[in-house]
Amino acid sequence: MKSNEVKLIREDGRRLDGRAFDELRPLKIEVGVLEKCDGSAYVELGKTKVYAAVFGPREVHPKHLALADRAILNCRYHMASFSVDERKPLGMTRREIELSKVIREALESVVFLEEFPRTCIDVYIEVIQADGGTRTAGITAGSLALAEAGIPMIDLVAGVAVGKINGHLVLDISDIEDKYGEADMPVAMAPRLNSIVLLQLNGRLTGEEFKNALELAKKGIMEIYQQQREALRRKYSGISAEEV
Ligand code: UDP
Repeated sequence: MKSNEVKLIREDGRRLDGRAFDELRPLKIEVGVLEKCDGSAYVELGKTKVYAAVFGPREVHPKHLALADRAILNCRYHMASFSVDERKPLGMTRREIELSKVIREALESVVFLEEFPRTCIDVYIEVIQADGGTRTAGITAGSLALAEAGIPMIDLVAGVAVGKINGHLVLDISDIEDKYGEADMPVAMAPRLNSIVLLQLNGRLTGEEFKNALELAKKGIMEIYQQQREALRRKYSGISAEEV
């Protein structure tokens, strides 16, 4: 179906879920949610629900794969079979392999890997429920899990997908907006450095739209970044998310 055949904006000028164009879905962030790993985090953005878990730094096996001057960052992005409408096949799909790579590259850009030569750090991202924006929610969760594992980083990384629906640029697109919209642009940044660590674009935007979409993404990322920092503060001051 063509994008302009599906109405994604209501008569009252709001999106199908009632949001304004520049509004994030309800965001919940928690750090230290799993016991068996060195660091973990949970990110919920509307119906999108993602866990991240980190192990390491640990010894590399087999040893000959170790790098003399830095740690290896491994990353696995995985969607649970029950996370999507049509059961996702078991095992890693091509999409999951690609997303594991781009998420690893985004996280690598903030971790001081050279502080842990001959070791590896494993980041596992598990999508429990998908409703658009899972790669960026995965990056947001992944950087928090790394922080909780005590891995030194120059900054956190936060991400969000922006898009174009029925001719309008919108923040934090949902699955239906992704499917029937004209464009989908996931962006992740190290906000303190004002550095973009992931930027992909599926669909078409004019030059002007691209600039505005990037500004919209930055606005959302700053909101997510504030909540990431608050989640870390809560964790280390012993306050649970429910008590806030
Ligand atoms: N999706 C799906 N089945 C899949 C992959 C994706 O239903 O096998 C849905 C899911 O809701 C996902 C959305 O399509 O969040 C958008 O997927 P995309 O590849 O754009 O990545 P994302 O926006 O999740 O980072």
